[in-house]
Amino acid sequence: MKNDVTLTVKGKYVNKYKDGYPLILRDAIINLNEVTAEGTIVRLVDDKNKFIAKGYYGKQNKGYGWVLSRNENEQIDQRFFVNKMKAAIKYRESFFNSPDTNAFRIVNGEGDGLGGLTIEYFDGYYLINWYSQGIYRFREYIINALKELVEFKAIYQKKRFDVSGKYIEEDDFVAGERGIFPINVKENGVNFAVYLNEGAMVGVFLDQRNVRKTIRDAYAEGKNVLNTFSYTGAFSVFAAVGGAVKTTSVDLANRSLNKTIEQFRLNGLDIDSQDIVVGDVFNYFKYAVKKQLRFDMLILDPPSFARSKKMVFSAEKDYKNLLKEAISITEDEGIIVASTNSSSFNMKKFKSFIDQAFKEMNRNYQLVEEFSLPKDFKTIKEFPEGNYLKVVFIKNLP
Ligand code: SAH
Repeated sequence: MKNDVTLTVKGKYVNKYKDGYPLILRDAIINLNEVTAEGTIVRLVDDKNKFIAKGYYGKQNKGYGWVLSRNENEQIDQRFFVNKMKAAIKYRESFFNSPDTNAFRIVNGEGDGLGGLTIEYFDGYYLINWYSQGIYRFREYIINALKELVEFKAIYQKKRFDVSGKYIEEDDFVAGERGIFPINVKENGVNFAVYLNEGAMVGVFLDQRNVRKTIRDAYAEGKNVLNTFSYTGAFSVFAAVGGAVKTTSVDLANRSLNKTIEQFRLNGLDIDSQDIVVGDVFNYFKYAVKKQLRFDMLILDPPSFARSKKMVFSAEKDYKNLLKEAISITEDEGIIVASTNSSSFNMKKFKSFIDQAFKEMNRNYQLVEEFSLPKDFKTIKEFPEGNYLKVVFIKNLP
């Protein structure tokens, strides 16, 4: 491809990279300014010029590229990507064979040795997410590898590095036969409408699969459920299928109303017994307190960071307060499902927010379930930040 550039790792980071850390950090490299072109193959060496690893340069919101190989002689070519992706697909064999789930991730970035890239499967359609210009430079290899390894109806892509704000639908189609959207996919027997032609969010976040199933199978029956930051209402639909007497879905985005109705209809559920509110969650909490509404189960799944007209929400700063608002409208013995996808704090810290919130509200609590990423979102122990999802089911006690 391009001429390789040798990058020297700073002394105090050498062991970190030798031990398998995959993300190229600005702070860790002495001469990062020597590489400018996205997609350049870089060789990481220590201060004695001894080879550590090779990877590519690609600027992302976090980091400047990813390690791809620890073998100095390995070429980053078509074969390289075929081998990585073949192993990734093999690891998801049980998903391909599942009779009641046909939406899952087949490549999860650095977890599969391919940082900056994810690929998801939706009933015969493949969706590639490119997280940097750098990885996008390898698109021919990666798309060819996919074509070689799987049968597909179509391949779509999202250029997640393209933050220009203009979304070009035509850019999303890669190969095969164009789909007619939404396509109807299945997750543990429940239907989802998925759009691969509408921007980054396709209708469902696959990483919550096990949480949704648990809500349906073990918690929803007979419950009055409030689902906040509800997006297309995926948690509400699973709760309703699991026998919830009522669900209330709250999301700020106008699109959420029609999208949530669509998901309920697709599953033959009665919409009249569900509430779908377009509005700010924090206003809804005030409204609920005023109207003395109480819920048996509350689902909190905010974005890590969000800006609305009146306020900025940051999970790290504001989760505790979000929990306090939730506690104030949860029944005794009720369940709060607290979820975060923020990689800026770990489970221990998340639990400390929970503990503080309950203490400040003079309530007791019991942790009853805990989730992180599902199997198809493969992570590696050398990169714990990659295991971003934290979900805790908390019982609210007097
Ligand atoms: N829980 C959802 C995913 C949430 S994505 C699921 O399981 O599918 C985050 C959502 O939060 C977005 O749909 C966004 O519109 C919404 N959002 C962000 N800030 C909000 C606020 N202050 N009040 C209500 N919704 C908000």
